Amino acid sequence: MNRVYNFSAGPAVLPEEVLREAAAEMLDYKGTGMSVMEMSHRSSAFAEIIEDAEADIRELLSIPDNYRVLFLQGGASQQFAMIPMNLMKNRVADYIITGQWAKKAYSEAKLYGTANAVASSADKTFSYIPDCSDLPISADADYVYICENNTIYGTKFHTLPNTKGKDLVADVSSCFLSEPMDVSKYALVYGGVQKNIGPAGTVIVIIRDDLVTDDVLPGTPTMLRYKTHADAKSLYNTPPAYGIYICGKVFRWLKARGGLSAMKERNEAKAAILYDYLDNNKMFRGTVVPADRSIMNVPFVTGDEELDAKFVKAATAAGFVNLKGHRTVGGMRASIYNAMPVEGVRKLVDFMAKFEAENR
Ligand SMILES: *Cc1c(COP(=O)(O)O)cnc(C)c1O
Repeated sequence: MNRVYNFSAGPAVLPEEVLREAAAEMLDYKGTGMSVMEMSHRSSAFAEIIEDAEADIRELLSIPDNYRVLFLQGGASQQFAMIPMNLMKNRVADYIITGQWAKKAYSEAKLYGTANAVASSADKTFSYIPDCSDLPISADADYVYICENNTIYGTKFHTLPNTKGKDLVADVSSCFLSEPMDVSKYALVYGGVQKNIGPAGTVIVIIRDDLVTDDVLPGTPTMLRYKTHADAKSLYNTPPAYGIYICGKVFRWLKARGGLSAMKERNEAKAAILYDYLDNNKMFRGTVVPADRSIMNVPFVTGDEELDAKFVKAATAAGFVNLKGHRTVGGMRASIYNAMPVEGVRKLVDFMAKFEAENR
């Protein structure tokens, strides 16, 4: 077996301990004589899996009692439609455009009502987070929408926008469980789990109770109503059962490592190793305004496309894979999610320094 250092933005690296546990339980989950993949979602074994998973994410994020936790399907992108369908009572919402994912959510919302782009960092290729302290928030906006960590561009809202009393909705796909968050500041937070938590397809939605209602846009399908899934405790239909099982294991892995404050410390230390190198060498540089840097996704360039390609090729051969930047940005991007060990980042930096010395 030869595990690589996988810097993919998603689907991404998962904790080796979790993968080993899942492998050990593959043929016979806790004496049931079957895999979790083969099990009824109405069985007592699966009930325990999903109930434990919910209890553990509630504990990790200190989710207040007036919020529901939903394990849904359709990935993060399905939420781009589900959010307006369920929340756009006045058919008005304000979007802050800080990258591709926010832009996609914004375009989707326009199918259902008036979506206003109240701020954007498109003018500088999304390399910064706009000042959101005094935005022209619409008086009748049903919510203000952000993508909190911009997976492609490597920026993060380190301060939440001033929504002037409006509900805040956030896509946290690529920073989910990377650090503590105050859920009570949001009306709804959601994330596709394949960035930092589990297998693609599963999406976790944390939604304030009062937004779980039948008062949705006309024509909203049963499957796309939050209330359908909240009422059925995420078991309205067959849920992404195996995905939920792996998420549950990752939650326990996080708890065993001291929870999200400890994770934040580790993630900051890991990111600092890479950013310090980027700030102090002569070949590579980060592409983002330092104050808005993400600790999860780190884009960087040499400034020479041929050299970028040469680097990616050499890195891949050395076991540092998926470092090619997003097709819209070019260059490189190292995604260093929770499960990327600190040695992975240290060794990457050593490799970059060696590459720099050999290609000067
Ligand atoms: C990856 C990603 C998405 C899209 O996720 P899918 O599950 O593929 O729909 C949306 N938002 C953010 C921030 C992402 O990183």
